[in-house]
Amino acid sequence: MEIDHERFEAYLESFPEDMPEYLVNLEVHAKENGIPIIRKDSERLIRFMLTMKKPKHILEVGTATGFSSLLMAEYCPEKCDILTIEKDEERAKEAVVNFDKYDINHKISLQIGDADEILRKLSADASKKRYYDFIFMDAAKGQYINFYPYIMKILARRGILISDNILQEGSLLDSRYMIPRRDRTIHTRMREYAETLMKDKCLETVVLTTGDGMTLSIRK
Ligand code: SAH
Ligand code: MG
Repeated sequence: MEIDHERFEAYLESFPEDMPEYLVNLEVHAKENGIPIIRKDSERLIRFMLTMKKPKHILEVGTATGFSSLLMAEYCPEKCDILTIEKDEERAKEAVVNFDKYDINHKISLQIGDADEILRKLSADASKKRYYDFIFMDAAKGQYINFYPYIMKILARRGILISDNILQEGSLLDSRYMIPRRDRTIHTRMREYAETLMKDKCLETVVLTTGDGMTLSIRK
């Protein structure tokens, strides 16, 4: 029997919520306002990975209004810093308000701008070479493949790279000819990204159906 993902989500939601109340509220607020935040099962995966890895330096690409940054701040070690990048000014403004309120240990710093430029600068900075031991990629799907060379310069040895929305609502599994033309480019690029990760000899990568499809990579 195949697993029905809607029923799986309902199953997950049937468990008692154990996140702090402010995160629950932020999650509800984001969902009501159409902000594409991570899904419940992805939350669990990130929490698990943070507990296992205990990272010191986290990088997130795609802040939106700050839900996942705050989730990571909540479940990462006390002495851990998080740099998060967002290009949409309106969303970034809302994230700043949320960080001021809830990032009480001042772990998070936000850089507003295009990740392409910010990652390029980071990867050129010698002090950031192999610096980040936990990277969460959750921005414009078609751009991941462009970010990849920068990411590989700043990802630490034994560092974890998690990329979200790899399967594009499952439609990436469909036949190429069933996909509207405008979606094909992004699909091709997403496939290319997953393939690049899997082929990279410096990484070990697994593709999961978690959330909207995630890859989980570790630098060897
Ligand atoms: N990680 C968030 C959700 C992020 S949604 C959470 O789970 O709470 C993806 C975000 O990436 C959007 O807000 C979008 O504006 C941003 N984004 C897309 N392309 C970007 C780019 N090139 N540079 C910076 N941010 C980008
Ligand atoms: Mg996402």
